[in-house]
Amino acid sequence: MNDCIFCKIVDGEIPCHKIYENDKVFAFLDIACDAEGHTLVIPKKHFVNVLDCDKEYLDAVIEAVRLVSRHYVEHCGYDGVNVVNADGAAAEQSVFHLHFHIIPRKSGDGLKMWPLEGKREMDLAEIRKKLAL
Ligand code: AMP
Repeated sequence: MNDCIFCKIVDGEIPCHKIYENDKVFAFLDIACDAEGHTLVIPKKHFVNVLDCDKEYLDAVIEAVRLVSRHYVEHCGYDGVNVVNADGAAAEQSVFHLHFHIIPRKSGDGLKMWPLEGKREMDLAEIRKKLAL
């Protein structure tokens, strides 16, 4: 897509720090510099997010998320990863080309990855009625 920054990264029009690529997937460091090794894994073909991505590309992206995450834990000195994805502006997606964030973690690194704090009143049975497939 013409005005998509992640498409431009795939095409080499915008520089990046590449971590991995194959025929369908590209992975590179996030410029946020908020966590060491913060990585984005994207399909080379443009999809807005998980909601419009076809199975072939979504499978390839998830497999690459697993490959890169395992590499970080098995060979790069990390103890785990958070895999994070936002779909839609309401979910705080800011770049509208599908991507999964990999945040490499070390025990006791002090990062706070879970924004939900405290319990709220809710009826799980009612919520299940609304959401179950
Ligand atoms: P999200 O808010 O989930 O859509 O994440 C978008 C991410 O893209 C943010 O973490 C940005 O820091 C990152 N980002 C935006 N532009 C670039 C770029 N040119 N190179 C690498 N990461 C980028």
